[in-house]
Amino acid sequence: MSTSTVITNIAALVTNDPSLGDNSPLGLVRDAAVVIDGDRVAWTGESSKAPATDNRVDAGGRAVLPGFVDSHSHLLFGGDRTEEFNARMSGRPYSAGGIRTTVAATRAASDAELEAGLTRYLAEALRQGTTTFETKSGYGLTTADEARALRVAARHTDEVTFLGAHIVAPELADDPAAYVALVTGEMLDACAPHARWIDVFCEKGAFDGDQARAVLTAGRAKGLHPRIHANQLSYGPGVQLAVELDAASADHCTHLTDADVDALAAGNTVATLLPGAEFSTRAEWPDARRLVDAGVTVALSTDCNPGSSFTSSVPFCVALAVRDMGMTPDEAVWSATAGGAAALRRDDVGRLAPGAYADLTLLDAPSHVHLAYRPGVPLVSGVWRRGVRVV
Ligand SMILES: [Zn+2]
Repeated sequence: MSTSTVITNIAALVTNDPSLGDNSPLGLVRDAAVVIDGDRVAWTGESSKAPATDNRVDAGGRAVLPGFVDSHSHLLFGGDRTEEFNARMSGRPYSAGGIRTTVAATRAASDAELEAGLTRYLAEALRQGTTTFETKSGYGLTTADEARALRVAARHTDEVTFLGAHIVAPELADDPAAYVALVTGEMLDACAPHARWIDVFCEKGAFDGDQARAVLTAGRAKGLHPRIHANQLSYGPGVQLAVELDAASADHCTHLTDADVDALAAGNTVATLLPGAEFSTRAEWPDARRLVDAGVTVALSTDCNPGSSFTSSVPFCVALAVRDMGMTPDEAVWSATAGGAAALRRDDVGRLAPGAYADLTLLDAPSHVHLAYRPGVPLVSGVWRRGVRVV
């Protein structure tokens, strides 16, 4: 028999259920309560109407929102790239190997080292309110190294993505076609059983539109669903390919034509924005305002990786999106919760309505707006995952 708990005296509750509270997309309920039964939300509404439960937690007039859904990270890697970051931010030349540096360190790492790193970053993210996360392979680039990264990841999340097509493996740099054949053949066969998603970095210097199409369609034939790194560093075919192939998400979306925006607005593909990458490379921000105004579903995620965005903090990304990408605080919070869930095609996370998983974040603040209003402050003071208080 499951135990029920009411969290009461919540000053502002973000439900992401527009039928509740103020009827906004956030479904914001004032003076609210949430009832957890087992691992699920059983009830949400005004405190005064909450049903009787076994246990009671007083939120003390603070804000509660759904746990963050971080739909884009790269947490299976060895080493770090401190010197490369330091040189970039110091304006010093640095002959960095970029992703290749991490590929070498990842291949050299033991399974235990890879898993220890993953566990550490997940704990870090959980403390900052992330209760659902996706993570990718992409630093092994051999059949054995990609498959073992996915096996390790699958022990910690259901949202595992095969990104063998991150860059062309260094040993096949002169023969990209051979590498695409490997990724869509033997490597895919070994990796598909451990993953839900297939991804490709569609960018100049990585994979072009035809190669990306070959990778994603091969993955789809093996039961994986597409998502794509698209239009990050330059304009390109990635976003429109994503919509055409019904990818769950096109990630980055920094350089978009009007036709790209129109395609996203008409399709079923979420635009996932990753401001940690622009922050960490001093690059041009993606224009969230333009996407939201066009009716595109926008998600916000960390892109946590050792090269271009070494943050696990969704609250930090929310603050950047509000400060530099034209989002309102309400929009940014929605995108980091319900938007992330949409980018993973999930409706059991990212909202606090009966039947959803009881994944909640309690802020040491009276409103979700404080996530952007008080940037850099560790406001997350409680986290429930699957109904269990973990922070
Ligand atoms: Zn990425």
